[in-house]
Amino acid sequence: MTDARLILVLGDQLSLHNPALKNARPGIDTVVMAEVREEAVYVRHNRHKIALIFAAMRHFRDHLRGAGHRVNYYDYGQGVESLERAVEAELALAHYSAIVICEPGEYRLRAAMAEWSSRFETDVDILDDSRFLCSIEEFNRWADGYKSLRMEYFYRGMRKRYGVLLEADGEPCGGKWNYDQENRKGWRNQVAVPARPGLVQDAITADVIALVDQAFPANPGKLEHFNYAVTHEQAQQQLDWFCEQGLANFGTYQDALAEESPWMFHSLVSMYINIGLLEPLAVCQQVEQAWHDGRCELAAAEGFIRQVLGWREYIRGIYWRFMPDYKHKNHFDARRPLPEWFWTGDTDMRCLSQALKQTLELGYGHHIQRLMVIGNFALLAGLDVEEVCDWYLAVYVDAFEWVELPNTLGMALHADGGMMASKPYAASGKYIQKQGNHCTQCRYSPAKMTGDGACPYNALYWRFIDRHLIALEGNGRMGLVLNNWKKRAEADKTAILHWADKVLDEVVGDAA
Ligand SMILES: Cc1cc2nc3c(=O)[nH]c(=O)nc-3n(C[C@H](O)[C@H](O)[C@H](O)COP(=O)(O)OP(=O)(O)OC[C@H]3O[C@@H](n4cnc5c(N)ncnc54)[C@H](O)[C@@H]3O)c2cc1C
Ligand code: SF4
Repeated sequence: MTDARLILVLGDQLSLHNPALKNARPGIDTVVMAEVREEAVYVRHNRHKIALIFAAMRHFRDHLRGAGHRVNYYDYGQGVESLERAVEAELALAHYSAIVICEPGEYRLRAAMAEWSSRFETDVDILDDSRFLCSIEEFNRWADGYKSLRMEYFYRGMRKRYGVLLEADGEPCGGKWNYDQENRKGWRNQVAVPARPGLVQDAITADVIALVDQAFPANPGKLEHFNYAVTHEQAQQQLDWFCEQGLANFGTYQDALAEESPWMFHSLVSMYINIGLLEPLAVCQQVEQAWHDGRCELAAAEGFIRQVLGWREYIRGIYWRFMPDYKHKNHFDARRPLPEWFWTGDTDMRCLSQALKQTLELGYGHHIQRLMVIGNFALLAGLDVEEVCDWYLAVYVDAFEWVELPNTLGMALHADGGMMASKPYAASGKYIQKQGNHCTQCRYSPAKMTGDGACPYNALYWRFIDRHLIALEGNGRMGLVLNNWKKRAEADKTAILHWADKVLDEVVGDAA
């Protein structure tokens, strides 16, 4: 009888601090990693995402072997159907006293693993994911104290708990908790956007790219552009580059949209934090240090840290608190089928086409593209919530349900009725014009409401307000907009609504 344990490491748990690996005993325990079909095909993942995860997994495997661990690795070509099958195959080969896993990020997998103990007649130890800075229980305890949840209070608590951007007396550095007001500048080509550093691919990554190209021919993603870090060292170099080159302008242009750049001054680190190549607290501390070293303004550092220490943790708390019901919420009863051009980017709306095309090709879109261009369009057009969420889960390289779902269903589509955000992020073409320079290249005009050449966002925006007037009535933050609509002449309203239907018919392909 042996007390050897089977330690399962998932593709998004490649952290050096993975709790399942913490007490792993080289020479006694066996680490199992598997590139399985079920995880690779449950949505039409962007090829960049599959390549990133498989390449990072294979590098992590080699790292663990280098540290003396026995790693049984199943590569995609071996055709293992699911994680469950991989475990089953291992248990047929040897006896293990227990299966040890860090809790998975997705409800679907967590529910499946809850059955494993009886299914395999073995102890299954599912450990808290210590890479998150607020555990699910801690979040629930915090949330129990509020009638409605708001990120800002959660964020302040996290700043205090981890001593980030805090004075010795516990007050926030600079006297304010939040510098969002200073971080909203639109883009008019004010400064040059630095070129991103290229990454050299080794043989492991090149093999994975060839495999993914061949095994996933119908998926989005142009792998000739693959430029993601696949090791901890490379991911750290990307973060270092951001702190040197991007951070100083991050805050100012955080909400901007640019024709010239898919990423502007954003960090491009979400994918690395999400799969364990970077640790969230260390990322925040490095950015705080960059501010102390005078490499950026406080507003930039605070703006960034709020996203990681605040939003990222809050989003995860929301996911686990409200799943599985959360996934089925559809507050505005949005059910229009997703247009086929979401998979090609072929629309003559310039902002949308650019955001869709870069997303499909690179697996990346920055926050404002996801929220105010694509998400806003989906909200205004009443696109089917489930289809939109599945699309977001598929196309982004950093997409995992725990983070994708509350962001899409809650923040972008307001389908949870306000559990995530205090008002819908709905906006007309004027917002997009203010934030960026797409409109100058567009066949539509944000200044026109109806008629040929009118920006589709405009009439759709008012149609959305008109349709959901009653549902939005109780929301104090929407009062001004609702009154503006109510005050309009009836003939005006009819013309706008008529035009919006025409837009839906012609642009989305269904006016029903
Ligand atoms: C509709 C929609 C869907 C999204 N889907 C995902 C997703 O699948 N995966 C994902 O990681 N993020 C998602 N986000 C959040 C955010 O857009 C991305 O984290 C960000 O664009 C990643 O690019 P970046 O690393 O350059 O981020 P930066 O703009 O440089 O921000 C820094 C970091 O803050 C964190 N962050 C910022 N905003 C959020 C947020 N709202 N939620 C969680 N973390 C945040 C990320 O770790 C990010 O790397 C989504 C947002 C929206 C509106
Ligand atoms: S005019 Fe409208 S559709 Fe065209 S780029 Fe501007 S906001 Fe987008």
